[in-house]
Amino acid sequence: MINSRKFAQSSAPGPKRVLPGMVVKPGPPGLGPFDSVRPLQARLGNQAMGRLLQSGILMRKIGIGHAADSMAPSVQRELRRRPPGREQEPPALSPEQIQDAIVYNNGRYSETHTRIIQDIVGTPQTGRFDENTIHAIVEWQADFRMTDMDGMVGMRTLRTIVLEMMRGGYSRGRIVWMIVDGHNMPTTGLASLTYDPALAGSNASTSGPIPGDSTVVIGPDAFAQGYEGLVHTIRHELEHVQQRRSGMANQNLREFLAEGIEIMSVGMHWEGLAGFMDDAGRCLQFWDRLSTAEQQANWGRFTEIRTRVQQRFDRARAADQTTHQAVIDDFNARNRP
Ligand SMILES: [Zn+2]
Repeated sequence: MINSRKFAQSSAPGPKRVLPGMVVKPGPPGLGPFDSVRPLQARLGNQAMGRLLQSGILMRKIGIGHAADSMAPSVQRELRRRPPGREQEPPALSPEQIQDAIVYNNGRYSETHTRIIQDIVGTPQTGRFDENTIHAIVEWQADFRMTDMDGMVGMRTLRTIVLEMMRGGYSRGRIVWMIVDGHNMPTTGLASLTYDPALAGSNASTSGPIPGDSTVVIGPDAFAQGYEGLVHTIRHELEHVQQRRSGMANQNLREFLAEGIEIMSVGMHWEGLAGFMDDAGRCLQFWDRLSTAEQQANWGRFTEIRTRVQQRFDRARAADQTTHQAVIDDFNARNRP
């Protein structure tokens, strides 16, 4: 889908946009970031050059994607997983399908986020989903070899867009909100949700009166987990917002239930096995701190969670099962209170 157009404009002064959402780091004085590749561009043409850039090889050479450099290795690894390139051309959507995609996307993304998606997929930033934008999303989906080339920015497409935002230097606070929007996460009772680069010692924190509106802060450790972990952390904190708003005073119960949200992973990508089992261990730890009355009231939820942990465990490789055997044994040792 590469936008030779944007690439061709990249000789304008100031921070330069080459691919949607990407900002080029200014090079040393007297040497533009593209000076070293311009002869190649002239030989290959814009489109082939765009593909090369898309492959990530040249980008690292000329310093694009510097936002990634300050990130945790797990995130950097993900960012290097460039779009594999299309294997098949996307279908031409019918007017009805285009309309469905517009309705779907409008149901999720604010005007600001619509503009960002348009920036990333390379269409004019109107802030409104229109036919043009839907076509560009379909092209994007084809480049990432998605099976659903439907123009809808669902979980899988969002993932690629957010990774592109990270690479392109969008602020982390904006990225957090993009994830909230794209997953339709609950936001009632939210006083504020921000990124704080100074938050240390935990992925995130939620504070405020109970009952009442909460302030959520997401920190660098949340981002260091990689995309899925970040999504789970945000969802976990927003669960706390709902709990606090409704007056749930017991922190152990709040944590048991919020870990449960991560384990059930409804409407989110699954975390890796290590992160998942970590959640499971913590979930059980908080369960054990509940009173008998609270355990009785939440036994149904406990068994749902345990079933999910067991399913995931059963599907793991033998070596991973050995690693996590203690957690599953612990879960199975709990009896109805
Ligand atoms: Zn929590």
